[in-house]
Amino acid sequence: MPRPKKYVAIRRKAAELATKASVAAAKKRKLEASDPTPVAPSTSRGKTSAEIRKSLVAEQTVKPAGVEKVRVIFEEIIQEIVKTMLCPSCADNKVAVKFTHHQTDTYICVKCACGHVIKDTLKSAKVKEKNYHPLTLLLVYCVMLFGVGFVGADKLNSFLSLKHFTKNTYIRYAKYITMNAIKHATSVLERSRRSVYEHYTQKEDADLVDDMLPVSTTFDGSWHKRGFKSNYGVGAVIDVETGLILDYEVSSKLCQMCIAKEKALQNKKITETEYVFWLDEHDCDANYEGSSGGMEVAEAMEMWGRSKNHKMMYKTFVSDGDSSAYRAVCDMNEGVGPYSEEQKVMKAECVNHVAKRLGTALRGLKKTRGGKQKKEGTVGGRHKLTQTVIDHLQHYFQVSLNRKVGTSAA
Ligand SMILES: [Zn+2]
Ligand SMILES: [Zn+2]
Repeated sequence: MPRPKKYVAIRRKAAELATKASVAAAKKRKLEASDPTPVAPSTSRGKTSAEIRKSLVAEQTVKPAGVEKVRVIFEEIIQEIVKTMLCPSCADNKVAVKFTHHQTDTYICVKCACGHVIKDTLKSAKVKEKNYHPLTLLLVYCVMLFGVGFVGADKLNSFLSLKHFTKNTYIRYAKYITMNAIKHATSVLERSRRSVYEHYTQKEDADLVDDMLPVSTTFDGSWHKRGFKSNYGVGAVIDVETGLILDYEVSSKLCQMCIAKEKALQNKKITETEYVFWLDEHDCDANYEGSSGGMEVAEAMEMWGRSKNHKMMYKTFVSDGDSSAYRAVCDMNEGVGPYSEEQKVMKAECVNHVAKRLGTALRGLKKTRGGKQKKEGTVGGRHKLTQTVIDHLQHYFQVSLNRKVGTSAA
């Protein structure tokens, strides 16, 4: 039977379009081959820290493999689609779909009444070692990032009518993710350190001191909760020029495993002997005792103490104005500091933070001596220290300091 003219025209049009596209692609390939991307200059002078960081990271980063796309779809839609299918074996349309669930992951098996299996996605599933199903892994990872934990995952599953999983399953997945995250963080840190080391020694011709590289670093800590009541904190040492993280340290006042075991002991779910045996083998997460404010100090001492392991000396300490961590670093090894008497750690202040502190202090001054009772000689008030004046002072101070960077006046 001859094909209708309409279809012939469509096919011809499609063939034309395909030829055009392939010619364009070939042209593009040719252009790319004759015009290679410009090579970055070997010197880094004049670049911003973000540019240096990008160039260093680009040299080292391995591009990840294609990420699979995820779609959420109603079960009925799949059933509707399957109803229209014909079996390739018997050409009948007695095709049915069966759903198999593993935690949140759903696998589809499309099978004909004649027994022919058209597609079974479970067989081609990319299940990671020890039954970690990919979508459940993704979901647990998300709720961990959001900080909502098992309760959050359970709620999300309820709202989307997805299959639920138990708390023990959640813990199993969370442990797997944490283990891999630590592994990844360690490899990223190693890459960052290597990049910074090569950047200074090869591109900046930095001299080594006692076989160690002096680096200007900034240090800052952060807490899980504000107001000095947090049980968790993290501190990081960052290279000033490249902005790459050189080291980090987590402080924790609590260990969830210890809490769970102690509860089990109280409820007589385990015996005292079992608890003692467990405690012997246990690698505890709690590594800090004391005030939450002191976490920064402990973290700084830990990281400055081990900097030699990475063949680096964190010579400059750019801080946010809080000197306690700096003082603690200088007091290490009975006042000798982390390196030696000759290699003292220097302190530098961040201009932004200094300006911020100036503003806070001036506002404080305005409040204490101005206010309702306007006596003669108070600081605040009209034509005196107003909010506008404070903002101006803060701004001019910051600008003038920035202008003097690199001169003796700074
Ligand atoms: Zn069939
Ligand atoms: Zn513990």
